[in-house]
Amino acid sequence: MATIAKRRDPKFDLDVVIVGAGPAGIAAGLGAIHAKLRYALIEQEESLGGSVLHYPRHKVAMTAPVDLPLVGKMRFVEVTKEKLLEFWLEIVARTRLQIRTGVTMERVEPVGTGFKVHTSAGVLRARSVLLAIGRRGTPRKLGVPGEDLPKVVYRLIDPRQYRDQQVLVVGGGDSAVEAALACSVFAQGHACPTAARR
Ligand SMILES: Cc1cc2nc3c(=O)[nH]c(=O)nc-3n(C[C@H](O)[C@H](O)[C@H](O)COP(=O)(O)OP(=O)(O)OC[C@H]3O[C@@H](n4cnc5c(N)ncnc54)[C@H](O)[C@@H]3O)c2cc1C
Repeated sequence: MATIAKRRDPKFDLDVVIVGAGPAGIAAGLGAIHAKLRYALIEQEESLGGSVLHYPRHKVAMTAPVDLPLVGKMRFVEVTKEKLLEFWLEIVARTRLQIRTGVTMERVEPVGTGFKVHTSAGVLRARSVLLAIGRRGTPRKLGVPGEDLPKVVYRLIDPRQYRDQQVLVVGGGDSAVEAALACSVFAQGHACPTAARR
């Protein structure tokens, strides 16, 4: 944020547009308030939280303690998704962090020494743009027939919805293993790792 603060220029309506209100975007927004920047924080979803919002219900998130601008040390080591979201909502209320939800960044256009950010709610002109868009905005697809069917999903919200169904989880990373474990608890022994119902 110090670099962005140094680039301040009154010619622009905003010092920075922050895109995304996941953990990174929220921290950046708090940093912007702390540095007294003119900022806009936009989020395409209707609520903050980013990936955390889409963790399975009651998932325990493991995190190292972090220092948040204006807030100080966040001391959680293990915390449920719900508690973490509650914590952020409380911080947003306390710090009056402004988040424009339901606004999607569509395109960023360089203009002179700054940028025009084209969004679903109009154009924002800023000296700097900070992309905190995470990695889940566009799920990687396999390029196989049937992958756009409604029974193919790219995030697991509640494993209980797949109870007693056969589910195929595709992927071999942490998220896939977590999804498979969560489903297996409810699926009476059927292993399940992006879930496709038959
Ligand atoms: C299933 C799962 C379990 C995990 N468990 C843990 C854990 O236990 N501990 C841990 O430390 N980490 C965990 N992680 C990783 C952690 O969630 C991510 O590292 C973290 O959420 C990244 O934060 P971020 O703000 O960079 O991105 P994100 O959380 O992905 O947020 C990005 C935000 O940007 C928004 N956005 C994207 N594109 C646009 C656009 N064009 N316009 C407007 N908004 C946009 C998105 O809607 C989203 O809200 C897990 C991840 C997953 C998927």
